[in-house]
Amino acid sequence: MKKPLSRVASAVQASTTIRIDAMYKTMKAEGQDVVGFGAGEPDFNTPENIKTAGIQAIVDNMSKYTPAAGIDALRKAVCAQLDRDYSLTYTPAQVVISSGAKQSLFFALMTLCDPGDEVILPAPYWVSYEEMIRMAGATPVIVSADESSMFRMTAQQLDDACTSKTKALILNSPSNPTGMLYNREELEAIAAVCLRRGLYVISDEIYDKLVFGQPYVSFPTIGQDIKAQTILINGVSKSYAMTGWRIGWACADAEIAKVMSAYQSHASSAPSTVSQLAALEALDGPQESILEMQAAFEKRRDFFVKRVAAIDGVSCLKPDGAFYIFMNIKKLLGREIAGRRVDSADDFASLFLEKQGVAVVPCDSFGAPGYIRWSYATSMENIEKGLDRLEAFLGQ
Ligand code: PMP
Ligand code: GLU
Repeated sequence: MKKPLSRVASAVQASTTIRIDAMYKTMKAEGQDVVGFGAGEPDFNTPENIKTAGIQAIVDNMSKYTPAAGIDALRKAVCAQLDRDYSLTYTPAQVVISSGAKQSLFFALMTLCDPGDEVILPAPYWVSYEEMIRMAGATPVIVSADESSMFRMTAQQLDDACTSKTKALILNSPSNPTGMLYNREELEAIAAVCLRRGLYVISDEIYDKLVFGQPYVSFPTIGQDIKAQTILINGVSKSYAMTGWRIGWACADAEIAKVMSAYQSHASSAPSTVSQLAALEALDGPQESILEMQAAFEKRRDFFVKRVAAIDGVSCLKPDGAFYIFMNIKKLLGREIAGRRVDSADDFASLFLEKQGVAVVPCDSFGAPGYIRWSYATSMENIEKGLDRLEAFLGQ
């Protein structure tokens, strides 16, 4: 008789975003007329100067392992960017380059948590956080924020959720899936609770370059004391349209960075050498592409929000950043749509894909039943098509 697989690993649910994206890509490859709003992945190509740097790295035979925490030049470039953008001071020894922000998040949790520890996770949250907390042997403690608070957890809610076992908080501003942004005052209040309770903060700032018309507050800028307890996460995937290159990083107190780097040296050796050199060009080279993509995303967001307001039965708040529309479909639940009863966001998303060929992400696994997420990192033409099909689906 075979022995069972690991209990922790067997309990992991496959990522909804990756699952939907794979379904969409298969249907498209089969020649079906589908429109994808699934995975949050910029539709832009990686800028030319970055591609050229990657090609040059291959030509120059940059094909050996790098130090576990990444090449010095890239660690320095991350420090320079944080200084330039937010006047934040980090040294290269405080930066650990990884194979994507997702890996940095996981290694951060593995670095902080022991079995039995609790990690506060404000909902709605990105699907991977909950699973990663469990994979690290810790327990997620979900704190729900609804539309009345613009999906933002208050410092009081955080304080109320803490126990003697609470080790860390995951913050994600702008948020995937809601697009909401915390302001400085809110972050100060949250930081005060974390300091009083001695909590670590994992601040996932992967969408910091995709904020529309408002200043962005990077969490460690709140103060030196909270900065020492914060692991700042970012990467090149979203801001430079480099999802497939797989480069992210964590910035933290040197002691934390050292443990993360040792962990990484065994778990993955080091991130891809070629990708690190391309990421170096992304950070050090011209930054105009960020502004161009930002402007395109803002235009799409405005168009999307306006169209949604004119459709009966669904609604959304205007997101401050990232590239997601977080749509409330609660009024549609319990109703019959296209001849079938729809009881959940999961039902809705499956039926919408089957009947109209539109892939959206149901947010049940994002701690947000009754919501679906549309990524508007796709062309204006696709956005129009998707919303036309939503109207047709709802019989409008
Ligand atoms: N954090 C958030 C909130 C995300 O949406 C994503 C997108 N996959 C990531 C982290 C991971 O990004 P990557 O691993 O591509 O750097
Ligand atoms: N972050 C993106 C999303 O939420 C990419 C897919 C993933 O890694 O989950 O869709």
